[in-house]
Amino acid sequence: MTDARRPPSHRPSSRRRGPLGVGLALLLAACGTTPTASPSPTALPTAAPSFSPPVASGASPGLAPPLAIALRDAIDPAAIVEDLRRLEAITVDSGGTRAAGTPGYDAAASFVADTLRSLGYEVTLDEIVAPLFAETVPGTLDIASPRGPIFEGGDDFRAMLLSPSGDVTAQVFALDFDPAAPPGSVTGSGCDATDWTAVPPGRIVLVQPDHCLMRDVVVNAQQSGAVAVVRSTPAWESGHVLRPTLLDPTGLTIPAVGATHQVGLALNDAAEEGYEVHLAISTSLVNRPMASVIADTPGGDPDHVVMLGGHLDSVIDGPGINDNGSGTMTVLEIARRLAALSDAGGPSPAWKVRVAFWAAEELGLWGSFRYLGNLSAADAARIAAYLNFDMLGSINGVREVYHYADSASSAPVEQLLIAALDGEGLTWSSFGGGSSDDLPFAQAGIPAGGLFSGHNTAKNEDQVAEFGGTLGASLDPCYHLACDTFANIDPEWLADLARAAAWTTGYLASGEASLAPAP
Ligand SMILES: [Zn+2]
Repeated sequence: MTDARRPPSHRPSSRRRGPLGVGLALLLAACGTTPTASPSPTALPTAAPSFSPPVASGASPGLAPPLAIALRDAIDPAAIVEDLRRLEAITVDSGGTRAAGTPGYDAAASFVADTLRSLGYEVTLDEIVAPLFAETVPGTLDIASPRGPIFEGGDDFRAMLLSPSGDVTAQVFALDFDPAAPPGSVTGSGCDATDWTAVPPGRIVLVQPDHCLMRDVVVNAQQSGAVAVVRSTPAWESGHVLRPTLLDPTGLTIPAVGATHQVGLALNDAAEEGYEVHLAISTSLVNRPMASVIADTPGGDPDHVVMLGGHLDSVIDGPGINDNGSGTMTVLEIARRLAALSDAGGPSPAWKVRVAFWAAEELGLWGSFRYLGNLSAADAARIAAYLNFDMLGSINGVREVYHYADSASSAPVEQLLIAALDGEGLTWSSFGGGSSDDLPFAQAGIPAGGLFSGHNTAKNEDQVAEFGGTLGASLDPCYHLACDTFANIDPEWLADLARAAAWTTGYLASGEASLAPAP
């Protein structure tokens, strides 16, 4: 999961802050590690709508197509586990990360592409060039005079993804800092240019999470003459600091770091006392070629393409086995079973099925935006639906179905995913779509949907009542961290969601679902 509203021109623009992106910005703003109250879902359906499968005319209502049932029942959880362990070994052997542009990513892409070719898929490598970011040495952040607390780079603060290097000593300006802000709150300031009118130039500016992209805040800070930005997140504790992405390094001139609440409190005191603070980070950016792996079934109607995918890259700080080995290895297993069913003379897809393993999602959905941006209008129109699977194995999980408040065209896909879970007697809740590689598709008006098992928010009472698990504990305590290893996966939770993903894929690929939005 990441933050990624990007026009195909690779230049983020705040004009796109429609409802579709709000979920994304909310998600970004709320991204903490230690458990925070799950953001209150707005306008999301809470109960199963009166459901009838959106069947195409002539199809038998109420009965799922044979391909849906066969594909669901063919899913082998042990095969997904085996692939996850394989992916983990590839990642560990390549330096512990599959970040875009690293050897780990390239090795994983080869593994997936080779596996799909061996299954008879037509594989395309969709090349992109994207920046490989690194924080070359742990940063420095200390309150110079009188000597205040010393903070550890990597543990108490980290450079934001794509932030330039910087070494500044200056006084701090705390922009509407609330020392009592609760974990999960996104009540900070900085999104609007008017927030900055009172900020004197030449300061290190302290902010807290707000309802927009971190990039917008940094650009506003630059325009106000700030020399650095520190975003302190109420939920973040030492050792659990993440890196919000700044989407695009172009035009960024000042260092930006993410930090714990403790760092925020100390800097707020420094601001009040007028103390000098020294902040230094050194980062590097190297543009690297990499590829999203796209593969088509040999058969199926090419004018109706059912697409499913997830991102194959991880963050730079960890192996990303739940985020997003769980989703990609589920897609690989569905591809494997689809091929096996056809080879065995079982039900095969009437429509073409295309699987996608995206590059550079953690940077800002670079792979999926570029893929769709480069498709001709005719080819984009052939995509009947897109299913996204990003994080399906959270150890204190939930089962969430993507919902788009302003995309009627996606409602039939949402209904199918809900039917898949209802059919298995599994509880579910809704989640604002547009937080992952589904966004470019939903924005293009292609019916989109997906499943999600939860990231770094604290499980609340409603969720415990619905899904069990531990109250107050993080849904995924290792989100975007080095501990996102196989040990951070709940294989049974993953298997249930993989079966639902397979049933929905089979239903769509049978051509028996009506994707016409309800009148
Ligand atoms: Zn993800």
